[in-house]
Amino acid sequence: MPTYEADAIVLHRLDYGEADRILTLLTREHGKLAAIAKGARKGKARTGALDLFSRSHMMLAKGHNLDVVAEVQRRGDVRHISGDLQRTASACLVAEVVDKVLEDRHPVSDLFDLVVVTLDRLNGLSRSPRAETAWFLMRILDLLGYQPQLLDCPSCSRPLPEAAGWFSPLLGGVLCATCGAHDQAGSPVSVNSLKVLRLMAAGDGEVYDRLRLSEALLHEVEAALEGQLEYHLDRRLKSLDFLRSTR
Ligand SMILES: [Zn+2]
Repeated sequence: MPTYEADAIVLHRLDYGEADRILTLLTREHGKLAAIAKGARKGKARTGALDLFSRSHMMLAKGHNLDVVAEVQRRGDVRHISGDLQRTASACLVAEVVDKVLEDRHPVSDLFDLVVVTLDRLNGLSRSPRAETAWFLMRILDLLGYQPQLLDCPSCSRPLPEAAGWFSPLLGGVLCATCGAHDQAGSPVSVNSLKVLRLMAAGDGEVYDRLRLSEALLHEVEAALEGQLEYHLDRRLKSLDFLRSTR
């Protein structure tokens, strides 16, 4: 059987038959793909490397239906994610979003590295998983071309003042006081949330890391980014319900 190599992250796994697992992998080289890991539930050597969210260098063999995981060399460590409910819920959201936005074997440039960095940071105990997850959502919206409109009102196109507004997923941005009304679908955005969203959109990670984000502010930022993502994916994300239940 012809083989190929890939840097891979396990996004999803499903028990199959007596001892096998079917994995959904995000690979740097080939995008998202499904592969079967034979004997994965029996062999001790491999199990850690094929844990959910783990990263490894793999040798895969072309199969008739599914490609087969032939060799695995573990890279990195995700034990702090699996040991913490909120970090696990955040990683589940990352995996679900990536799984939903990608078509099989269509790599999106920079997405693999974004997921590696996000999972590494979720595994770092000093970090707030909520702040990391919000950052990931802004970055993936940006990669997909769905970044929210935060400088001009998406309804009347006038520049937005530095003031509280209303986030509309339907219009894809923050509405000015004239256009935004609380009976519309969406969520409120305070002046501080607007500033943080703008900083995130600009990609200023160093300043973002130094910010102390209050619960109320995080809540508004999350509501805007999650609303925007669900609107563009045109579906509810199951892992968001799980994540909200851990907050
Ligand atoms: Zn307006």
